[in-house]
Amino acid sequence: MALSKPWIDHFLVGPLQMRCSVVTDRASGDTIIIDGGDEPQRIIDWVDGFRGVGPNWTTGPENKEVAEQQFAPNRRVVALVNTHAHFDHSGFIPVLQAHYEVDWFLHPDDDYLQTLAQVSGRKYGLSLPEPAVADEPLVGGEVYTFGTIELSVLHTPGHTLGGCSLVLSTTDGPDHVFVGDTLFAGSVGRTDIANSGGDFEVLARSVHTQLWPLEDTTVVHPGHGPITTIGHEKRTNPFVGEPAGGAGNFGFGKYA
Ligand SMILES: [Zn+2]
Ligand SMILES: [Zn+2]
Repeated sequence: MALSKPWIDHFLVGPLQMRCSVVTDRASGDTIIIDGGDEPQRIIDWVDGFRGVGPNWTTGPENKEVAEQQFAPNRRVVALVNTHAHFDHSGFIPVLQAHYEVDWFLHPDDDYLQTLAQVSGRKYGLSLPEPAVADEPLVGGEVYTFGTIELSVLHTPGHTLGGCSLVLSTTDGPDHVFVGDTLFAGSVGRTDIANSGGDFEVLARSVHTQLWPLEDTTVVHPGHGPITTIGHEKRTNPFVGEPAGGAGNFGFGKYA
């Protein structure tokens, strides 16, 4: 079922300031963590008890006391879900898996990339745990039910082979899509990262066929940088939007 006013906390974590999104159904307290790639203790402290520095941005209660009184007893993590397997998005998933003991979902076309998370992180000076292994596969075109939260999965390869965009429908506001590094405000993800299977033509096709059909008002939550909307990117994005022409412009995007 579509959610009413989903509560979304954004944590910008790690050296690449990757966006981890925590989505809660206010009615049930059921919660999913999307791309819990770094600073796991910061995420756990907030989600479990509203402790610590908390998120960078939230649609939930801003007052800690209100949050504690109204939501703390009910907020319960029911699944971990990833848009793709680059280390900044998945490096610390093992800590969240051990703490919450819930399944972690990843598209199987990123399983090989996921085995390299530790090695890739080292290049950025990060010491990561043994890479997590996905418990369950994400399949494009399927709707997943995590507790009371429903996500539609769109397979959007191009930045990585198994890249997915996760659509959250709402009953009383714009829908939301968590796109990982497929699409950014004014840019797109890099397609030249080793072992990822990046391909700009594939990425542009993913955006054109999977993301552009979403409502213009859909809020886009990218893996890096500011949030935007489908309509705004369709009109202004120089890589895959109208300025690029129908077929998409050739180019390299920004982040890993
Ligand atoms: Zn990436
Ligand atoms: Zn990234």
